[in-house]
Formats: sequence, C-alpha cells, structure tokens
Amino acid sequence: MKVLFGVDVGGTDIKLGAFDWKSQKLLKKWAIKTDLSNEGKQIIPDVAKEIQSYLCENALSEADVYGIGMGIPGPVDKDGNVEVCVNLFWNNFNPAEEMRKFFPHAYIQAGNDANVAALGEFVQGAGRKYKTMMLITLGTGVGGGIILNGDIVLGASGLAGEIGHIAVGSKDSGNCNCGNCGCVDQFASATGIVRRMKKILAENEGVSQLRKMRDFTAKDVCEQAKKGDPLAVKCVEFCMGVLGRAMAIFAHAFDPEVFVIGGGVSGAGALITNAIYKEYKKNFFLTDKKNNIILAELGNDAGIIGAAALVSEEGKFGYII
Ligand SMILES: [Zn+2]
Repeated sequence: MKVLFGVDVGGTDIKLGAFDWKSQKLLKKWAIKTDLSNEGKQIIPDVAKEIQSYLCENALSEADVYGIGMGIPGPVDKDGNVEVCVNLFWNNFNPAEEMRKFFPHAYIQAGNDANVAALGEFVQGAGRKYKTMMLITLGTGVGGGIILNGDIVLGASGLAGEIGHIAVGSKDSGNCNCGNCGCVDQFASATGIVRRMKKILAENEGVSQLRKMRDFTAKDVCEQAKKGDPLAVKCVEFCMGVLGRAMAIFAHAFDPEVFVIGGGVSGAGALITNAIYKEYKKNFFLTDKKNNIILAELGNDAGIIGAAALVSEEGKFGYII
C-alpha cells in the first residue's frame, strides 16, 4: 500500500495527514507542537519521526511512502528554497532537501501554505468544479493563493496572490508588517476587524453590545453584525469592502472563475461574502458573475489535503512562474 503525507507546518503546531495514494482518502490526521528551538532546525526531524512512527504502527516501510508534501508559512521558490520564514526562524533553508535525507526514495515538495491550501480546495473542496480559482484566507493575517488551469501561480519571487498587501484601504490603518499602510491585511484579517471595531466604537456614540465586552474577537463582531448591531455592521462592511476592492483588481488581472473565501473569519458565512460582493461589484463592471464569491469547504484540513495533492503524482501539479 502506497501512502502520501500532507504536512501543514505552522508557527504553533504542525498538522499531519496520512492519505491512501490510490484513493487520496485521508487515513489519519494528527498534530504536534512546533519546536522552534535551535532556529527551527528540529522541525523537519520531528516531522520525519512522526511519519516513521506512523509507518511502524501500520506495518509499512519507507518504500511505501509515495510522497511527502509540506506547506510552509512564508514564500517558497520553485526549487523549494525558503529565503526567510520569520515564523519558523528559517533563513536560506530547503525543507524538502532536508526531508529527503530521511526519505530518499519519496517524492518530496514544499510550497507556501496559502498556495498549498488553495490546491487543497481545488482538488477536494469548493474549487473542485473549476479550472481557475483564487483562495483567500482570512485568519490572523490575510493569505492568497491562485490556481490557473490546475497549476499554482508562484511568480518570480513566490509572491503571486499576496492579496493581503494590496493597499486599497484607508491610510488610517496604522503600519502593516510589510511597512505600508492601508493593506487589506489591516482590515480583513481577524486582528484587522477587531482594530477597526475599536476605532469605530471610539469615534461613534451609538449603542453596541461590544462596548460591554472587554476583549471581543472578530467572531463577536460578526455575531453582533448578524444581530443587526449598526456599528458592527458598519465595521464588517468597511473591512470586507476593502477586500472586495482588492479582489476586483485581481479579477481584472486574471479573471478567475471563483474566489474561495476561507480562514476563521469566513465562518461568518454569507455576512462576509455579501459584504465583499457589495464593494467588489462596484469596482468590477466588465461582467457580473453573481455567484463567483464562495465559501471554502475544507476548513483546517485544506493545508494537509493540498500538501498531499502536491506530491500525489510526480509532475501532476506544477508552478507557473
Ligand atoms: Zn502590508
């Protein structure tokens, strides 16, 4: 029996999935804590150890591993090289090459986590009926991944699809990590929504349940918006409007069949997609595709499913540079 492993490496934990190579069915998923000691050098050996334990428990050998795919939280070039990954303390590091030392006969690839999650939604999730799509993840930050005719769009520096740093928002957003102001990340991320809500509460006198909560989250803001809290509605429409404008730019650039919205914030469902669409259509006149903003389906599993898909067949999914 040949197995595939999909690994989603995060700064806090590492998610692993074992898949049947033939059916692509998920056999087991589990997670371990990310060991960031020694400049993240322990991460790949830890993952290798987990895979070896799985093989041992299931009476499999190294020869049964068809492929190991990995999603990394930072830019990864076409050769799998990671120039800088601040979350894992990696500098000029090639995680795939490192993994090959443990599994020299397996097909091993690494990609940026948003790109890998986009591939996951493309093969098994909301994008499976389409050829061209963009995944936008609204979590602590905003990530993006583009699939064009079945391949991942990488770009010269691995930065294609970085919608989080399109600066179409108001400049009063404060400084983004990238050094600019007004980035989508400053509004449409969970942290961005909370920051904007606090600003709206400070500048307006209206009644809001959120005033009674000391540490509200983006989820609280969305819940209050759903109940009709006018200040929360204002916040959601403002923040998602910034994203809608940025998406119109991407639509003009490569005209995807669908935009798939994922990440924790997308849990608010139609509240989010309707607010995005409202501003998107104001900025994209050429055609009106009413249903092309849809919700992701795989949740936290998109990363492991996409990472496994990356190595499901040598050369099946490539990169467009
Ligand atoms: Zn930025």
